[in-house]
Amino acid sequence: MKTDFEELLSQIKKYQTPADCRLVHQAYQLAVQAHAGQTRLSGEAFINHPLAVAATLARWQLDSETIAAGLLHDVVEESQVSLEKITKDFGPEIAKLVDGVTKVGEYKLRGQQQAIFVENLRKLIVVMAKDLRVVLLKLADRYHNLQTLDVLPLAKQRRIARETIEIYAPLAERLGIGEMKGQLEDLAFPYFDPDHYQWLKTYSRSYFQKVDEYLLKIERRLIRALAKRGIAAQVSGRRKHLYSLYQKLQRPEIGRDLAKIYDLAALRVIVATVEECYAALGIIHQLFRPVPSVGVRDFIAQPKPNGYQSIHTNVFCLGRIIEIQVRTRAMHDQAENGIAAHWHYSENKTAGSFAPTQKMAWVKKLVQWQAKITDSQELIVSLRFDALSHRNFIFSPQGDVFDLPAAATPVDFAYAVHTDLGDHCAGAKVDGKLVPLHYQLKSGQIVEILVNKHKKAPSRDWLNFAVTHKARQKIRGHFR
Ligand code: MN
Repeated sequence: MKTDFEELLSQIKKYQTPADCRLVHQAYQLAVQAHAGQTRLSGEAFINHPLAVAATLARWQLDSETIAAGLLHDVVEESQVSLEKITKDFGPEIAKLVDGVTKVGEYKLRGQQQAIFVENLRKLIVVMAKDLRVVLLKLADRYHNLQTLDVLPLAKQRRIARETIEIYAPLAERLGIGEMKGQLEDLAFPYFDPDHYQWLKTYSRSYFQKVDEYLLKIERRLIRALAKRGIAAQVSGRRKHLYSLYQKLQRPEIGRDLAKIYDLAALRVIVATVEECYAALGIIHQLFRPVPSVGVRDFIAQPKPNGYQSIHTNVFCLGRIIEIQVRTRAMHDQAENGIAAHWHYSENKTAGSFAPTQKMAWVKKLVQWQAKITDSQELIVSLRFDALSHRNFIFSPQGDVFDLPAAATPVDFAYAVHTDLGDHCAGAKVDGKLVPLHYQLKSGQIVEILVNKHKKAPSRDWLNFAVTHKARQKIRGHFR
């Protein structure tokens, strides 16, 4: 049987050069030496932790530097090995990654006073802005720590779980690693909100049992129908993540009634090409009638702002409604691995049908946003955590993306583009239709601001609905 390290190395061999493998091997040797004799609170050998972190990074097919940093990420913190030694043996790039993830680990984000929380959050964002691989390292680290959270004292469990739900899971989503977001939330949920976790686990058990049996039946039917038309598809059923189900149950129209949730499970159909996606959709709709009100959502023609691509359709099938997602293998890897998959594809020039530059706009935006925060004390003060989780990405008619908080209006958008545009704003069109200026924008909408050149100042009543710091400050400035 292979050891965990041999397993890791064979994973890396698939996409990296022999020199890269040697680098990872060298990092492993130093990590083993540094952590010799150390155990984790769970009782297992300490080295298992950096190995598990490196395995996650390899699953995302990250470069050898990041994986080496994953193996070494706790060395400075937990052993006698200094950052200078890492710099000397492995070079400044790996040392910077190790330093970044060590620093991020020191920022305790929850269980603090608001002022310290905001300050630590700012520091975290600054570190991440320098190199996004630090975020990925931190996510992999957090992912493994959550799996052994039960050995920690209660207060620490709560803090880590809360940080995960409020900060790291939204970050994973923003980076397009949706699968990791769901996994982090589900690992944190029992510690974050134990009562509701228990309630939902018990309440959903029988629903999920029925759903599993049902999925098995239609999987077979679907594979056969697609094969008959010459499409080799991989079909798999998947349950909705528990925490995301919990959030959906809180919506007023659902009223905590599981019977009203039709995406308790989804079927995923993976095919080779975009053409096959549309062909498969046709075949699915011949087998199962689409649900009229919910309809088909084509995220291939119109990707989500974080780059997600797939076609979703809700169909009537054996007496109930089920969501079926159709995508290519490349889209699937992108959805599972997000940014990491993107790096892999762009390096190897094997990109499928998706446009990598468009995907990266999202990430670039995050970096820019972080950079802005470092320059402006005012922004830091107005930054509250929900800033990370509930933001909308709004487009100008030219295709520029603006990152605005939930409830932002055309006035906020106008001021985000330019102060002049805000001051002269006289009306707005959203996706080509006229809307009132207090209209609440949604992610993905295109906003066109109508200007009146003769208008010199904003209206005072805009203060009743403008939400961004910048817009409110500019409007107020006119009435002082
Ligand atoms: Mn660690």
